[in-house]
Amino acid sequence: MIFEKMEQSDYEQLVFCHDKTSGLRAIICIHDSTLGPALGGCRFWNYDTEEEAIVDVMRLAKGMTYKNAAAGLNLGGAKTVVMGDPKTDKSEAFFRALGRYINSLDGRYIIAEDVGTSVEDMDMIYQETPYVCGISESFGSGGNPSPMTALGVYYAMKRTAKEAFGNDTLEGKTVAVQGVGNVAYHMCKFLHEEGADLIVTDVNEEAIKCAVEDFNAKAVSIEDIYGVEADIFAPCALGGVLNDESIPKLKFKMICGSANNQLLDQDKHGKMLNERGIIYAPDFVVNSGGVINVSDELQGYNKERATQKVKGVYNQIGKILNIANEKNILPLEAAEHLAEERIEALLRVHGKFSSKANNQINK
Ligand code: NAD
Repeated sequence: MIFEKMEQSDYEQLVFCHDKTSGLRAIICIHDSTLGPALGGCRFWNYDTEEEAIVDVMRLAKGMTYKNAAAGLNLGGAKTVVMGDPKTDKSEAFFRALGRYINSLDGRYIIAEDVGTSVEDMDMIYQETPYVCGISESFGSGGNPSPMTALGVYYAMKRTAKEAFGNDTLEGKTVAVQGVGNVAYHMCKFLHEEGADLIVTDVNEEAIKCAVEDFNAKAVSIEDIYGVEADIFAPCALGGVLNDESIPKLKFKMICGSANNQLLDQDKHGKMLNERGIIYAPDFVVNSGGVINVSDELQGYNKERATQKVKGVYNQIGKILNIANEKNILPLEAAEHLAEERIEALLRVHGKFSSKANNQINK
């Protein structure tokens, strides 16, 4: 049953990691390493069943293959899920045991933080393996990736605006922001500095207060954000917010935000937006600034170089919109095509013998 599922989407490897003393129960999934070492975060989640954890790690690992490929990174896609309660089950031994398993993969997989894990957890893994990103700045890393994710979203928004409005200036545009957390706060700062007007909502009163005070944003209720008069919608809180109920209310020309999996049903709701003349910038490319930033650590982190690479999200979105126009397909499909074509092309390149790449001659 598992091999059948692996075969369906050409998965490479599933690794079950167990440590009785610390209680570690983790699954590492490497989906595809054609482009390079497979990189993907570590999700710590209270899964009800092992099956649920396996399904999730496989889904997330495949998503990382597309994200890394579409971002133009020389990285494959993978993910780790840890079964347990992130509030009570963490310990030094727990993460160091996980670090040893990652080390045993000898660089095929590189871990980073995700939902339920932190920079401190990655630091413990770093005690056991160099194959970890998103560690503390004191170790020479880029630290919290959220400001870089925000920079990428901002550049993606500018390029999508060029498609929607004819030019990429956001001055005078109104942007409706759902959730003003880590990423969106920084994104709002960039937008405010360029002269955009902001309408915000959040379940956290304090987050709203900051946006209102710092960026002169107008606050609305959670339910009202979908129907506000604005040019751009930036979902930066949860997945699945673009659905049968919300889409008919939207008056925006384009959608570009940091949240993962914004479309509840990728095909159905992607088409619904298109029918309403709303351009949807593919979320996994829009929010790739974070992974672009952490992956710079693999070369020895350089903030200037990482910033330039993150700004490159503008051109990646441009490429995707051009493919969508040429092939008359949705931008999300175009992003998937771009990722698949890049993997296919490099797979063929790898088929050519090169003594250095194949490591046949020790010089
Ligand atoms: P965060 O938790 O700091 O911010 C999310 C905000 O949304 C919070 O302020 C929260 O109160 C608010 N929120 C929750 N439910 C809401 C609701 N129903 N309506 C309105 N607001 C609500 O998270 P973040 O790190 O800023 O990430 C935001 C999104 O971007 C997430 O979907 C995340 O997966 C995605 N993302 C983040 C990064 C990163 O670098 N942090 C990278 C890629 C993708």
